[in-house]
Amino acid sequence: MRKNIVAGNWKMNKNLQEGIALAKELNVALVADKPNCEVIICTPFIHLASVADIVDPAVLAVGAENCADKVSGAYTGEVSAEMVASTGAKYVILGHSERRAYYHENVEILAEKTKLALANRLKPIFCIGEVLEEREANKQNEVVAAQLASVFSLSPEDFSKIILAYEPVWAIGTGKTATPEQAQEIHAHIRSLVAAKYGSEIAENTSILYGGSCKPSNAKELFANPDVDGGLIGGAALQVADFKGIIDAFK
Ligand code: PEP
Repeated sequence: MRKNIVAGNWKMNKNLQEGIALAKELNVALVADKPNCEVIICTPFIHLASVADIVDPAVLAVGAENCADKVSGAYTGEVSAEMVASTGAKYVILGHSERRAYYHENVEILAEKTKLALANRLKPIFCIGEVLEEREANKQNEVVAAQLASVFSLSPEDFSKIILAYEPVWAIGTGKTATPEQAQEIHAHIRSLVAAKYGSEIAENTSILYGGSCKPSNAKELFANPDVDGGLIGGAALQVADFKGIIDAFK
């Protein structure tokens, strides 16, 4: 059966000391009150090794927010999947809408990143989702289908390691959340696309997270949907009380 997962995306927030303090506080809270789901924090690169050292892997895992689309070499400023894995991180967010919009990451680049992440035993949290104009034009289903092309070239074995995150761009950081019905409808569609490509067993085993202004007050009703297997959390992952409130939606 697929896993329920709550993953935090810290984005470009928290200096090293603040990040270590946040990870420690969260770890203490989760050791004291064990989560009923898998919990992941995805941090800036510079935090990874320190944070991976602090967390109890029984309750908390660590991931990066990105990795390079090249193996190694003269790519100044880039961080490879191998480097990420060497910190102790186990996951990597790929295809976040901010990377697609501001750093021009397209289907081909994301296919390369996904392959390199998997080759280095990192589990990709692969993000897809439409912008507001696409939702208003009722094009969300075709948008997510096109974005999935980056991971639909994988073998069934490799695809089985992918976590999908549906994040409507109009809901990210805006305070505007998809309704539980909107989330369920498109998550079911995404699962049907996976089933058409890889068969129903792999589709049933794929965790599909919802992301976009998820908070303790709306997490329970979002996660209650049969095809919503948890959340990818931005703003609310920066405070333990809020993040723990979302994790506790699975209790
Ligand atoms: C995100 O950026 O992945 C996200 C879901 O952000 P927020 O929760 O702040 O909307």
